[in-house]
Amino acid sequence: MSAVERDVIVSEVGPRDGLQSIKRSMPTETKIEWIKGLASAGLPEIEVGSFVSPKLLPQMADCAEVVAAATEIPGITVLALVPNLRGAQAAFDARSHKINMPVSASQAHSKANINRTVEEAVEDVARVHALRQEFSADYHPGIEVGISTAFGCTIEGPVSEDWVIRLAEMLVEAGADSVGLSDTTGYGNPAQVKRLFKRLKSEIGGKAGGAHFHNTRGQGLGNVVAALEVGVTTFDSSQAGLGGCPYAPGATGNIVTEDLVFMLEAMGLKTGIDIEKLIAARSTILSGLPGEALYGHVQDAGLPKGFRYA
Ligand SMILES: [Zn+2]
Repeated sequence: MSAVERDVIVSEVGPRDGLQSIKRSMPTETKIEWIKGLASAGLPEIEVGSFVSPKLLPQMADCAEVVAAATEIPGITVLALVPNLRGAQAAFDARSHKINMPVSASQAHSKANINRTVEEAVEDVARVHALRQEFSADYHPGIEVGISTAFGCTIEGPVSEDWVIRLAEMLVEAGADSVGLSDTTGYGNPAQVKRLFKRLKSEIGGKAGGAHFHNTRGQGLGNVVAALEVGVTTFDSSQAGLGGCPYAPGATGNIVTEDLVFMLEAMGLKTGIDIEKLIAARSTILSGLPGEALYGHVQDAGLPKGFRYA
């Protein structure tokens, strides 16, 4: 979508993963202002909301409006999370560029998160793929699937790596354009990340998607480096580390976008993102959610003297 040269795609999930874990709702105008701020900092991709029942997550009730406004912003790919066919229909009606369907590797988490068995969730991906086929050639939304609890589950504990890989193959067969791995619960470690992403790539090749890490046990950026080493080039993160999962008890925030971008640029990897403009966008969060806790080391310490972008 953009002519900017990037080695790594940083996909901002704060307006979805971040806001859905906070009980208060950010006003719609503030969400849109925040997304504009993130876009002007150079974020290439933003997950702006979730098409879930407003009874379950009232914070996301304005998702269609937010998607419609975000797709007017030039230069960004707009994503929305959808849990099922109904959500996908709403996302397609709102002309979201891409949708993100979470499919859990853990039966217990899948039931808690989307009230479906894992197999039913795979069938939903196939139905959504069929629905997409009905749209005309001028609108071809991407379908990305993130396998949640891929590195462990707060309810079931360890998750079989063989099963995660088998599930990824099933999802590609169902019509997903890409299948990434999500450490929803912050259970992953760098060795495991390297092993699993390597297997993912060797099993589904070019359909291997990005990484979604939470920093629950402080492993987030270590996990990013491990994933980079096996060729992963798309990473989800959340500005100020907002986020968690309302249905995965104990899961805390996403990795912090500001810290991720700093690390990548310092390592010589182009992100196309301006860290100062990114930091400036944090003030919008507080205007919409006064007093909310914001995280981030780069924000606290500032950029090092003589710092240069990649
Ligand atoms: Zn998450």
